[in-house]
Amino acid sequence: MVERFAFMQAALALYLDAERDLAHSGAWDPACDHWLRDAEAARTALAAALDAVCATGPARAQDRPLRQLARIARVMLLATDEAEFAQAHGLICEFSAVLRCPGSGPIDRHVDEMLAEARRQLAAFAALPDYAPEATAAAKGFRILARVHDRYHLLLRCRTCRRDFPTKLFVLMRGQPLCPHCLAARRAALAAEAGVAFLGPDPDHSAYGHYLAPCGHILRRQFDLIARVARGETGLRCETCHAAREAAEARRFGWQRLGPCPSRRPNYRLYRHRCGHVQRVAQANMLWGQCDCAGCGQSWSARPSFLYLFEIHLPARGPRPARDYLKLGYSAHPVKRHRHQLGLPPEASVAVLRVVAMASGHAACACETALHRQLRRAHPDAVVPRAEFADGINVTREIYRPALRPVIEAALDRIEADAGAGAAAS
Ligand SMILES: [Zn+2]
Ligand SMILES: [Zn+2]
Ligand SMILES: [Zn+2]
Repeated sequence: MVERFAFMQAALALYLDAERDLAHSGAWDPACDHWLRDAEAARTALAAALDAVCATGPARAQDRPLRQLARIARVMLLATDEAEFAQAHGLICEFSAVLRCPGSGPIDRHVDEMLAEARRQLAAFAALPDYAPEATAAAKGFRILARVHDRYHLLLRCRTCRRDFPTKLFVLMRGQPLCPHCLAARRAALAAEAGVAFLGPDPDHSAYGHYLAPCGHILRRQFDLIARVARGETGLRCETCHAAREAAEARRFGWQRLGPCPSRRPNYRLYRHRCGHVQRVAQANMLWGQCDCAGCGQSWSARPSFLYLFEIHLPARGPRPARDYLKLGYSAHPVKRHRHQLGLPPEASVAVLRVVAMASGHAACACETALHRQLRRAHPDAVVPRAEFADGINVTREIYRPALRPVIEAALDRIEADAGAGAAAS
């Protein structure tokens, strides 16, 4: 602790020197840019040194006042307005009794001297003049257009987007003002890459924004998440549409989706059977209509047949790179055995993207055949040549490129809507 505090004091001394150099140079001074960069670097180093002290747990009684004083200094350095800065500085006087080391041992005296010296440094910090704001603004990418209300409030013009925004003198001098227009533009660009439209920040949570999804629903998401979606690291799903799809899946088997499972297990939902009985069912089982009603005993095994869409991932093997394919097919049984049916190697993985229940095996087979014919005709480039996957997947039907997924999903949506209408009519 003592070493880290001493290191912090050295950083603070360098920072004060840099700020004083800056105060004595003017905007006309060619060295001004250089002074500003020095001051910024010294400020960053000081912030890191303060963080190090604040993050250290006190090992003995003498460490406590050191850490407390460092905490106050940290608030002063990171303060975003005059009042916050003044309040933090005021704490040093207010708690002067606590910010001392009263003992008489050699360590106590040494620590007490350090504390006294740090208090003098912080008083000098508080007395720094508000030097040449024009030069600071220029170095930080802005131009001062006007003072607003008083000398502490400025109207800045951003050099990047040439638009204006108000800020506090204090933020400009002791930090980096953020241009709200550039920030919004960056967020809108990221949102576009993620496939949604940026509507604006959430006024209640600075980490969240509102986005318009292609389906027309408004999503509230963390900015970080949208950045990850834009980089392709994760997906973005509209919870409203997803719940509606789950409800439609359940309706076709005579179940009403009531909501999430009361036990909060993420993969379960609460459903009401057409007989009135309410029970929880794993969502994956409902997808296949695979659920016995504990109320009336109706069994899913009487259920008809299914169209499905899988994504198959074959990892890299020897000279062959990793491959991803889409498999569209039908099955009379919930395809728990898909791995076996497709003759996949053990290292392959399969994700079930869609399952559409059909009235009969005959209907499923006819639908699948017609769909393959359509896709082959309209998207011949998306049909993978058999030689390319014959080593990994043992099927006779078409295998498609992943890019065809939206087309296949749209076709399955239409089939699902028809099947749903048929089930509702019967
Ligand atoms: Zn800007
Ligand atoms: Zn939606
Ligand atoms: Zn029932």
